[in-house]
Amino acid sequence: MDEKEFLAASRGEFGGMGYLMTKDLNMAELVARAEAAGKRLARALLLSRLEQDPHRNPAEPFCGRCGAKLRIQEAAQRRELSTALGEFEYQRAYGVCDRCGHTAAPLDEALGIPPFGPSVETRQKICHAAATARSFEMAAEILEEQAGIKLSAKQVRVISETEGKALAEERAQEVKSFRSGKPIAGPEQPPELIVVVADGGRIQTRQADDEQEGGAWKEDKVGAIYEATPRKDPEAREAEKYEGARAQMKTFAASMTDWDEFGWMLCVEAIKRGYVQAKEKLFISDGAQSLRTLRQDHFNGATFILDWYHAVEHLSGCGKAAFGENTDEYAAWYKKMKTKLWLGELDAVIRGIEKESARVGKPQPKEHESSPRVILHRNIGYFNDNRDGMDYPRFRAEGWPIGSGVAEGAVKQFGMRLKGSENQKRVLQASRQREV
Ligand SMILES: [Zn+2]
Repeated sequence: MDEKEFLAASRGEFGGMGYLMTKDLNMAELVARAEAAGKRLARALLLSRLEQDPHRNPAEPFCGRCGAKLRIQEAAQRRELSTALGEFEYQRAYGVCDRCGHTAAPLDEALGIPPFGPSVETRQKICHAAATARSFEMAAEILEEQAGIKLSAKQVRVISETEGKALAEERAQEVKSFRSGKPIAGPEQPPELIVVVADGGRIQTRQADDEQEGGAWKEDKVGAIYEATPRKDPEAREAEKYEGARAQMKTFAASMTDWDEFGWMLCVEAIKRGYVQAKEKLFISDGAQSLRTLRQDHFNGATFILDWYHAVEHLSGCGKAAFGENTDEYAAWYKKMKTKLWLGELDAVIRGIEKESARVGKPQPKEHESSPRVILHRNIGYFNDNRDGMDYPRFRAEGWPIGSGVAEGAVKQFGMRLKGSENQKRVLQASRQREV
């Protein structure tokens, strides 16, 4: 049965039903059959829609670029299109504009079909697979298995890189225009609570200009923006276990450029998500100087939360410096300090670090940064400087998230996928919008 016949059959008294009434089919087979039937019906509908579209062979075709008359070169040129409903083939008029040289198919322009390659929704799937899979080979496999999109690894790579590059350019352009004073619009419905998360991580790159073995380590910057609906709960102040408001609809920004450029990029993305209008704004990050500067430059109106996991990591570093790794003293000290930090007893935490720092002694001039003396000494500054971001009991009572795990996951994913060209990281941006 071809699609037309299928469409005719399904017009009867639900012709699709008999197809499912075959004996001895189990549920999995029924689902597969019903799904296939639905897909064929959808394809048939779409094809007949394309056939009836007035733009398919317009009486008076116009150039989509300059508005002059389009000279039709082929009345029924074939176009193969890969869509979420599988491969399609349709015919439509194709012409050239004698005034501006633009060549186009009026139908494709009217429906937003790209001049070549797969359809927009297929591209999105390709980008998502390319960004999340470990390799382009694996992405191609996932696409075929999960979406019936048959492409080679190379095609997946070319398409996702092209999309990613276009998106990166679009973003760079937005940042440029914003920096030159052009305002950026927020969403129609601004969120109650907006959370901006930023993090930096080291990743290994292998670039053309970088011939030494293993590639160079570079610092990558990743930010995430999300909305959340917090539930206030005064009892969470004392709670031992806590789960903050869950992230909804994350947007990512990532860059290997300098912190300044990244800050602007994150700022533009946040404004687009409603940062300006949001009732509550949070900025979650580590307390490193680069992130402090970024926050002060762009997110000064947000409540700062020092990412809980970074804070705890610093405490653990202090404990190891003071007592040595894997010692009972370390375990006991760390546990005690972590509890104090959780309860917001900052003074006690800082006194605890000061005490150990005094015991091991002041750092010598030019002492290596990995030395226990340096670690303890620096962390006194770290905890003092980031005090306002560590009021965890209050943050919990507000129902706010206290960790930046969202961005860290993205940093890891980046690292994993960045063993190739510079363009690959842009691929991740192309799939930046995902539901959690
Ligand atoms: Zn033209």
